[in-house]
Amino acid sequence: MEEHCLVDNLRYLIIILSFYLILLPGSFAQDQYVSEKLSENIYKITSGNSNSVLFVGNNSSVLINSEHFFYSEDIKDFINQITDKPVKFIISSHYHGHIENELFSVGDEETTLIIHENSLNRLLKSEQEGNTKLYRTISFKDRLDFKIDDEEINIIHFPKAHTDGDLAVYFKNSNVLFTGNLFYSNSYPFIDVLSGGTVRGYIDASNGLLKISNKKTILVPGNGKASNEKVLGNFKKMVINSKNRVQLQIHAEKQLKIILNERPLADFDADRWGRGLIKSHEFVKNLYRALSVNN
Ligand SMILES: [Zn+2]
Repeated sequence: MEEHCLVDNLRYLIIILSFYLILLPGSFAQDQYVSEKLSENIYKITSGNSNSVLFVGNNSSVLINSEHFFYSEDIKDFINQITDKPVKFIISSHYHGHIENELFSVGDEETTLIIHENSLNRLLKSEQEGNTKLYRTISFKDRLDFKIDDEEINIIHFPKAHTDGDLAVYFKNSNVLFTGNLFYSNSYPFIDVLSGGTVRGYIDASNGLLKISNKKTILVPGNGKASNEKVLGNFKKMVINSKNRVQLQIHAEKQLKIILNERPLADFDADRWGRGLIKSHEFVKNLYRALSVNN
């Protein structure tokens, strides 16, 4: 994802400027963070291209991160403006392990990190290399359910999708589903083959998320606006169609350069998918490489 850095920064500026212009009731902004209240006790917090979700209970809070889970003083200050209930759990929706030569802390003395075991292994490697400081962690394989006050929280692992350690988090009573980067509401997705992601797993994850969702579910992607089941259904169709098109070209033994020139996703480009973080040619390249490796 590093290749998106410059473009990300520009988009990030535009996003911040837009939010200052159209702040919604119950929402506020500070420096790089913008919050949006989704339900009685759930907030979406956006930083650059990355969404987090904050659940505020009677005595404590839970923070779920997508791309960034540095638990910095900045994010703490921002959360303090929303609530005085301390963050006890940080759930990491996934970890790529692409952050190198940069010391960062995951959590602090007050928090426990909840993470999939594959992502934890990557973090432990980073810790051994002296790049990461890890505090308390809980890791698991398939699923973790717990309850805070009246809210039932289901954390579900979807294998080999965006990475090999993706978690979705469903707040059952509030009917809010945080998908991490298993779903992009305004963009083509990114399948990180080097971190264990696969196209088949990505499509399976869309099916799994659709099973959890209903018409009233608020879906919070790791990237993009809060969304709904219908958009997720369209996203799944777009991913399947894109995969089939690129797969056909690979079977026809066409070179990537020629496939890109033919613009196989032109109709989707004109739709919402072509206007987001991941551009059409990037997604075609991503599919070509992922499908050439194993699926
Ligand atoms: Zn990611």
